[in-house]
Amino acid sequence: ETGFDPAVIKRQFPGLAAPDLIYLDNAATAQVPEVVLAAQRAFEIEARGNVHGTPHRRSRAAQAAYDHARAAVARYLGVVPREVVFTYGATSAINIAAGALTELVGPRDRIVVTQLEHHSNLLPWQRLAHHRDVRLEVIPVRPDGRLDLDRLEQILHPDTRLVAITQCSNVTGAETDVARVVAAARAVGAQVLLDGAQGAPHGPVDLPALGVDYYAFSGHKVYGPTGIGVLWGRQEALAALPPFLVGGQMIREVTLQTATFADPPRRFEAGTPPLGGAVGLGAVLDWLGGLDWTAVRAHERNLTRRAIEGLQGLPGVRIVGPTDLDRRGPVVSFVAEGIDSLELCRRLDRDGLALRSGHHCAQPLHDALGVPGTARASFALYNLESDVDALVAGVDRALRDLRR
Ligand code: PMP
Repeated sequence: ETGFDPAVIKRQFPGLAAPDLIYLDNAATAQVPEVVLAAQRAFEIEARGNVHGTPHRRSRAAQAAYDHARAAVARYLGVVPREVVFTYGATSAINIAAGALTELVGPRDRIVVTQLEHHSNLLPWQRLAHHRDVRLEVIPVRPDGRLDLDRLEQILHPDTRLVAITQCSNVTGAETDVARVVAAARAVGAQVLLDGAQGAPHGPVDLPALGVDYYAFSGHKVYGPTGIGVLWGRQEALAALPPFLVGGQMIREVTLQTATFADPPRRFEAGTPPLGGAVGLGAVLDWLGGLDWTAVRAHERNLTRRAIEGLQGLPGVRIVGPTDLDRRGPVVSFVAEGIDSLELCRRLDRDGLALRSGHHCAQPLHDALGVPGTARASFALYNLESDVDALVAGVDRALRDLRR
């Protein structure tokens, strides 16, 4: 007996009420629970105003709501609020970090990424490398889609400034051995940025225990609103970073020719923040924080095992990525011999099965694994065993149809 029942949870998500929908694209964007909609509605009606010291009651209410949301994010990550920077998503968080670091690196320096990164955690570092003549080095993947961390010590160097790495692959579901990466990075004095876009949705994060320097994630993948995300930075790390986006709300003093900047986190939050998004994100993280995560993880793991076993049992279907459940999230990508992933997912949509096709913004990984694209089913806490069974039956039917 646990306090977690996925069928009860599912009823708290109005977007899942449609009887003809089996939503299995959670790694792209998850559905949103009523608590978020209620919090956002209350904010817009009772507390809508701008933040940062306007002397009227609506501004004070907006500021209180914004501060409350930042505190909720901090609780979920096990950190203090002044280390939490609100951004527009994981992509904007990583761009802000990379844009700031661009000013601090030079030709001798090295940045390390991996072969399985989402383009969001690759292109900002590519650009930094091109602009600053920095060497971009790559931790390769093994044929099973897991990172070859045995290469770490060889690749890391005293001139390595940063390792930018994902917590969990959005294609294969493989989870990174973060402790190992952090230990190796520390040994050469490098910082670590962890892309938590696929990690944060699967339970509260203990950032002090992980030992990384920066962490990025998106609201819409943790059952929150779109247009909001977080860049967390260790206090000393943020203090050393220049701003990237500049404009209103992030300054100390401005003259026509010069400007000085506020302390973090404000230094990184130029312009009016996405307040409604922050409020919704705070509400959902408080809600997630109250769940029994041992039970939720066991449930997501069970769905993953059931999907892998079911799909593997179909003729010509192969899972792309690790099939053992150790260090693995609920993301299951697969290829079907002779069938294009887009064609397959279009056919599945006719049965109400929502899956993603293509390279999932990880083209170098697909190149490395020698597949042009995959179909991806990704599970959330509200998915049921019956959803997985519908997936397996649906793929079986689709493949028979398409191969006829
Ligand atoms: N990193 C990973 C691992 C992701 O899966 C995603 C979203 N697919 C991102 C970064 C980017 O997130 P967003 O599009 O919300 O900025």
